[in-house]
Amino acid sequence: MSFEHESDDHAIRAITDDASFRVIVARTTKTVQGILKAQEAPASVASSLGDLLTATVLFRETMSPGLRVQGILSTQGGGASLVADSAPEGRTRGLIQNRAALASTGPFDTLRMMRTLHNGSINQGTVHIDAGGSTTQAMMAYMQNSEQVDTMLAVGTRITGDSVVAGGYMVQLLPEVGKAPLAVMAERLEDFRTIDHLLTPGFSPEELLNELLYRMPHTRLETTPIAFECWCSESRVLGALATLPREEIQSMIDDGQVLEIGCDYCRKEYRVQPTTLVGLIQQS
Ligand SMILES: [Zn+2]
Repeated sequence: MSFEHESDDHAIRAITDDASFRVIVARTTKTVQGILKAQEAPASVASSLGDLLTATVLFRETMSPGLRVQGILSTQGGGASLVADSAPEGRTRGLIQNRAALASTGPFDTLRMMRTLHNGSINQGTVHIDAGGSTTQAMMAYMQNSEQVDTMLAVGTRITGDSVVAGGYMVQLLPEVGKAPLAVMAERLEDFRTIDHLLTPGFSPEELLNELLYRMPHTRLETTPIAFECWCSESRVLGALATLPREEIQSMIDDGQVLEIGCDYCRKEYRVQPTTLVGLIQQS
Protein backbone atom coordinates (compact mmCIF):
# COMPACT_ATOMS: atom_id res chain seq x y z
CA MET A 1 0.00 0.00 0.00
CA SER A 2 1.39 3.42 -0.80
CA PHE A 3 0.32 6.88 0.24
CA GLU A 4 -1.07 8.80 -2.73
CA HIS A 5 -3.69 11.34 -1.78
CA GLU A 6 -3.72 13.88 1.02
CA SER A 7 -7.41 13.10 1.49
CA ASP A 8 -6.67 9.44 2.29
CA ASP A 9 -6.09 8.38 5.86
CA HIS A 10 -2.48 8.61 6.91
CA ALA A 11 -0.05 8.94 9.77
CA ILE A 12 2.79 11.44 9.97
CA ARG A 13 5.86 10.85 12.09
CA ALA A 14 7.99 13.73 13.32
CA ILE A 15 10.79 14.39 15.78
CA THR A 16 11.57 17.59 17.66
CA ASP A 17 14.90 19.07 16.65
CA ASP A 18 16.15 18.93 20.24
CA ALA A 19 15.70 15.13 19.90
CA SER A 20 13.47 15.00 22.99
CA PHE A 21 10.18 13.89 21.49
CA ARG A 22 8.77 11.64 18.87
CA VAL A 23 5.34 12.67 17.59
CA ILE A 24 2.85 10.68 15.53
CA VAL A 25 -0.42 12.13 14.27
CA ALA A 26 -3.03 10.28 12.28
CA ARG A 27 -6.32 10.67 10.53
CA THR A 28 -8.33 7.43 10.49
CA THR A 29 -11.67 8.74 9.23
CA LYS A 30 -12.27 6.46 6.21
CA THR A 31 -10.75 3.48 7.99
CA VAL A 32 -13.05 3.83 11.00
CA GLN A 33 -16.07 4.56 8.80
CA GLY A 34 -15.47 1.43 6.70
CA ILE A 35 -14.96 -0.80 9.71
CA LEU A 36 -18.01 0.52 11.60
CA LYS A 37 -20.07 -0.19 8.49
CA ALA A 38 -18.66 -3.70 7.93
CA GLN A 39 -19.27 -4.54 11.59
CA GLU A 40 -22.70 -2.87 11.65
CA ALA A 41 -21.49 -1.38 14.91
CA PRO A 42 -24.29 -0.43 17.30
CA ALA A 43 -24.28 3.28 18.23
CA SER A 44 -23.46 2.34 21.82
CA VAL A 45 -19.98 1.08 20.89
CA ALA A 46 -19.23 2.88 17.61
CA SER A 47 -17.06 5.62 19.08
CA SER A 48 -15.27 3.16 21.42
CA LEU A 49 -14.38 0.98 18.45
CA GLY A 50 -13.27 4.05 16.49
CA ASP A 51 -11.06 5.23 19.35
CA LEU A 52 -9.59 1.76 19.82
CA LEU A 53 -8.75 1.51 16.10
CA THR A 54 -6.97 4.86 16.15
CA ALA A 55 -5.13 4.08 19.40
CA THR A 56 -3.98 0.72 18.03
CA VAL A 57 -2.74 2.27 14.78
CA LEU A 58 -0.82 4.94 16.74
CA PHE A 59 0.62 2.27 19.04
CA ARG A 60 1.87 0.20 16.11
CA GLU A 61 3.27 3.24 14.31
CA THR A 62 5.25 4.32 17.39
CA MET A 63 6.23 1.05 19.02
CA SER A 64 6.30 -1.66 16.34
CA PRO A 65 5.71 -0.39 12.79
CA GLY A 66 6.85 -3.71 11.31
CA LEU A 67 4.61 -5.94 13.41
CA ARG A 68 0.93 -6.81 13.56
CA VAL A 69 -0.69 -5.26 16.64
CA GLN A 70 -4.10 -5.97 18.12
CA GLY A 71 -5.86 -3.79 20.67
CA ILE A 72 -8.71 -5.43 22.56
CA LEU A 73 -11.27 -3.78 24.84
CA SER A 74 -13.23 -6.27 26.93
CA THR A 75 -16.20 -5.99 29.23
CA GLN A 76 -16.18 -7.49 32.72
CA GLY A 77 -15.35 -11.17 32.63
CA GLY A 78 -14.55 -10.92 28.92
CA GLY A 79 -18.27 -11.08 28.02
CA ALA A 80 -17.90 -9.01 24.86
CA SER A 81 -14.94 -7.36 23.17
CA LEU A 82 -13.95 -4.89 20.54
CA VAL A 83 -10.87 -5.82 18.51
CA ALA A 84 -8.68 -3.48 16.48
CA ASP A 85 -6.21 -5.25 14.23
CA SER A 86 -3.43 -3.19 12.65
CA ALA A 87 -0.84 -4.63 10.29
CA PRO A 88 2.31 -3.20 8.71
CA GLU A 89 1.73 -0.77 5.84
CA GLY A 90 -1.40 0.51 7.56
CA ARG A 91 -3.76 -2.33 6.74
CA THR A 92 -6.42 -2.16 9.44
CA ARG A 93 -9.52 -4.12 10.33
CA GLY A 94 -11.82 -4.47 13.34
CA LEU A 95 -14.24 -6.86 14.97
CA ILE A 96 -17.03 -6.89 17.53
CA GLN A 97 -16.81 -10.20 19.38
CA ASN A 98 -19.78 -11.67 21.23
CA ARG A 99 -21.98 -8.80 20.22
CA ALA A 100 -25.03 -10.46 21.81
CA ALA A 101 -23.37 -10.06 25.22
CA LEU A 102 -22.86 -6.30 24.77
CA ALA A 103 -26.29 -5.45 26.10
CA SER A 104 -25.99 -7.58 29.23
CA THR A 105 -22.38 -7.01 30.36
CA GLY A 106 -20.99 -3.91 32.01
CA PRO A 107 -18.70 -1.28 30.46
CA PHE A 108 -15.34 -2.14 28.93
CA ASP A 109 -12.95 -2.63 31.82
CA THR A 110 -9.71 -3.97 30.33
CA LEU A 111 -7.46 -2.95 27.47
CA ARG A 112 -5.10 -5.58 26.12
CA MET A 113 -2.41 -4.90 23.53
CA MET A 114 -0.91 -7.84 21.62
CA ARG A 115 2.05 -7.83 19.26
CA THR A 116 2.76 -10.76 16.97
CA LEU A 117 6.54 -11.08 16.79
CA HIS A 118 8.36 -12.22 13.65
CA ASN A 119 8.82 -15.73 15.08
CA GLY A 120 5.03 -15.98 15.55
CA SER A 121 5.06 -15.65 19.33
CA ILE A 122 2.85 -13.09 21.01
CA ASN A 123 3.90 -10.34 23.35
CA GLN A 124 1.04 -8.83 25.34
CA GLY A 125 0.07 -6.63 28.23
CA THR A 126 -3.16 -5.63 29.93
CA VAL A 127 -4.35 -2.59 31.81
CA HIS A 128 -7.48 -2.17 33.89
CA ILE A 129 -9.80 0.68 32.87
CA ASP A 130 -11.29 2.70 35.70
CA ALA A 131 -15.05 3.19 35.69
CA GLY A 132 -15.89 5.88 33.15
CA GLY A 133 -12.33 5.91 31.81
CA SER A 134 -11.82 6.76 28.15
CA THR A 135 -9.76 4.83 25.61
CA THR A 136 -7.32 7.76 25.64
CA GLN A 137 -6.80 7.38 29.40
CA ALA A 138 -6.56 3.59 29.19
CA MET A 139 -3.94 3.79 26.45
CA MET A 140 -1.96 6.39 28.37
CA ALA A 141 -1.97 4.12 31.46
CA TYR A 142 -0.97 1.16 29.29
CA MET A 143 2.02 3.02 27.82
CA GLN A 144 3.17 3.99 31.31
CA ASN A 145 2.63 0.64 33.04
CA SER A 146 3.35 -1.95 30.39
CA GLU A 147 5.75 -0.17 28.04
CA GLN A 148 7.32 2.25 30.52
CA VAL A 149 7.42 5.00 27.93
CA ASP A 150 6.35 8.51 28.93
CA THR A 151 3.55 9.15 26.47
CA MET A 152 0.86 11.76 26.02
CA LEU A 153 -1.90 11.04 23.58
CA ALA A 154 -5.48 11.60 22.60
CA VAL A 155 -7.77 9.81 20.19
CA GLY A 156 -11.23 10.84 19.10
CA THR A 157 -14.12 9.68 16.93
CA ARG A 158 -16.81 12.13 16.00
CA ILE A 159 -19.95 10.55 14.59
CA THR A 160 -22.76 12.66 13.18
CA GLY A 161 -25.39 10.64 11.38
CA ASP A 162 -23.52 8.66 8.73
CA SER A 163 -20.45 10.84 8.80
CA VAL A 164 -17.35 10.00 10.81
CA VAL A 165 -14.22 12.01 11.56
CA ALA A 166 -11.50 10.18 13.48
CA GLY A 167 -7.89 10.66 14.44
CA GLY A 168 -5.38 11.16 17.18
CA TYR A 169 -1.81 11.76 18.23
CA MET A 170 0.92 10.31 20.41
CA VAL A 171 3.84 12.27 21.83
CA GLN A 172 6.65 10.24 23.39
CA LEU A 173 9.66 11.27 25.38
CA LEU A 174 12.62 9.61 23.72
CA PRO A 175 14.71 7.31 25.90
CA GLU A 176 17.76 8.72 27.61
CA VAL A 177 16.54 12.32 27.42
CA GLY A 178 15.94 13.36 31.09
CA LYS A 179 12.47 14.10 32.38
CA ALA A 180 12.94 17.89 32.28
CA PRO A 181 11.35 18.53 28.86
CA LEU A 182 8.35 16.42 29.87
CA ALA A 183 6.78 19.04 32.15
CA VAL A 184 7.06 21.66 29.43
CA MET A 185 5.45 19.38 26.88
CA ALA A 186 2.70 18.32 29.32
CA GLU A 187 1.79 21.97 29.82
CA ARG A 188 1.75 22.59 26.09
CA LEU A 189 -0.53 19.59 25.55
CA GLU A 190 -3.02 20.70 28.23
CA ASP A 191 -5.21 22.07 25.41
CA PHE A 192 -5.04 18.74 23.58
CA ARG A 193 -6.18 16.38 26.34
CA THR A 194 -9.05 15.66 24.00
CA ILE A 195 -9.08 16.49 20.30
CA ASP A 196 -12.83 16.27 19.81
CA HIS A 197 -13.00 20.01 19.03
CA LEU A 198 -10.55 19.50 16.14
CA LEU A 199 -12.48 16.66 14.51
CA THR A 200 -14.33 18.76 11.97
CA PRO A 201 -14.86 17.48 8.41
CA GLY A 202 -11.70 19.31 7.32
CA PHE A 203 -9.56 17.67 10.03
CA SER A 204 -5.99 17.45 8.81
CA PRO A 205 -3.17 15.58 10.56
CA GLU A 206 -0.71 18.16 9.16
CA GLU A 207 -2.52 20.94 11.03
CA LEU A 208 -2.73 18.88 14.20
CA LEU A 209 1.03 18.33 14.03
CA ASN A 210 1.64 22.04 13.55
CA GLU A 211 -0.60 22.91 16.47
CA LEU A 212 0.95 20.34 18.80
CA LEU A 213 4.46 21.57 17.96
CA TYR A 214 3.64 25.23 17.46
CA ARG A 215 6.91 27.21 17.39
CA MET A 216 8.84 24.13 18.38
CA PRO A 217 11.44 23.30 15.71
CA HIS A 218 10.77 19.84 14.37
CA THR A 219 11.44 17.63 11.40
CA ARG A 220 8.84 15.62 9.61
CA LEU A 221 9.84 12.06 8.89
CA GLU A 222 7.67 9.57 6.96
CA THR A 223 4.03 9.75 6.00
CA THR A 224 2.42 6.32 5.90
CA PRO A 225 -1.00 5.20 4.63
CA ILE A 226 -3.78 3.80 6.81
CA ALA A 227 -6.81 2.03 5.37
CA PHE A 228 -9.51 -0.50 6.11
CA GLU A 229 -8.09 -3.51 4.32
CA CYS A 230 -8.62 -7.10 5.41
CA TRP A 231 -5.99 -9.78 4.76
CA CYS A 232 -8.32 -12.75 4.66
CA SER A 233 -7.92 -15.07 1.65
CA GLU A 234 -9.16 -18.40 0.40
CA SER A 235 -5.94 -20.08 1.44
CA ARG A 236 -6.33 -18.75 5.02
CA VAL A 237 -9.91 -20.05 5.11
CA LEU A 238 -8.72 -23.47 3.91
CA GLY A 239 -5.87 -23.37 6.43
CA ALA A 240 -8.40 -22.87 9.23
CA LEU A 241 -10.62 -25.67 7.89
CA ALA A 242 -7.64 -28.01 7.73
CA THR A 243 -7.24 -27.76 11.52
CA LEU A 244 -10.70 -29.30 12.08
CA PRO A 245 -10.90 -32.99 13.06
CA ARG A 246 -10.84 -35.30 10.06
CA GLU A 247 -14.32 -36.70 10.82
CA GLU A 248 -15.80 -33.22 10.77
CA ILE A 249 -14.32 -32.49 7.34
CA GLN A 250 -15.51 -35.91 6.13
CA SER A 251 -19.07 -35.17 7.23
CA MET A 252 -18.98 -31.86 5.31
CA ILE A 253 -17.83 -33.79 2.23
CA ASP A 254 -20.64 -36.31 2.73
CA ASP A 255 -23.14 -33.43 2.83
CA GLY A 256 -22.02 -32.60 -0.70
CA GLN A 257 -22.89 -28.93 -0.22
CA VAL A 258 -20.78 -25.93 -1.18
CA LEU A 259 -19.53 -24.56 2.13
CA GLU A 260 -20.10 -20.82 2.59
CA ILE A 261 -17.73 -19.19 5.01
CA GLY A 262 -17.80 -15.48 5.74
CA CYS A 263 -14.89 -13.43 7.05
CA ASP A 264 -15.91 -11.95 10.42
CA TYR A 265 -13.81 -8.83 9.81
CA CYS A 266 -14.76 -7.71 6.30
CA ARG A 267 -17.80 -9.95 5.66
CA LYS A 268 -16.39 -11.32 2.43
CA GLU A 269 -17.94 -14.70 1.55
CA TYR A 270 -15.80 -17.67 0.52
CA ARG A 271 -17.34 -20.69 -1.21
CA VAL A 272 -15.52 -23.95 -0.69
CA GLN A 273 -16.36 -26.83 -3.03
CA PRO A 274 -16.64 -30.39 -1.65
CA THR A 275 -13.81 -31.43 -4.00
CA THR A 276 -11.54 -28.89 -2.30
CA LEU A 277 -12.39 -30.47 1.07
CA VAL A 278 -11.42 -33.88 -0.29
CA GLY A 279 -8.06 -32.32 -1.13
CA LEU A 280 -7.69 -31.15 2.49
CA ILE A 281 -8.19 -34.67 3.83
CA GLN A 282 -5.74 -36.13 1.35
CA GLN A 283 -3.08 -33.64 2.40
CA SER A 284 -3.46 -34.36 6.13
ZN1 LIG B 1 -11.76 -10.43 5.54
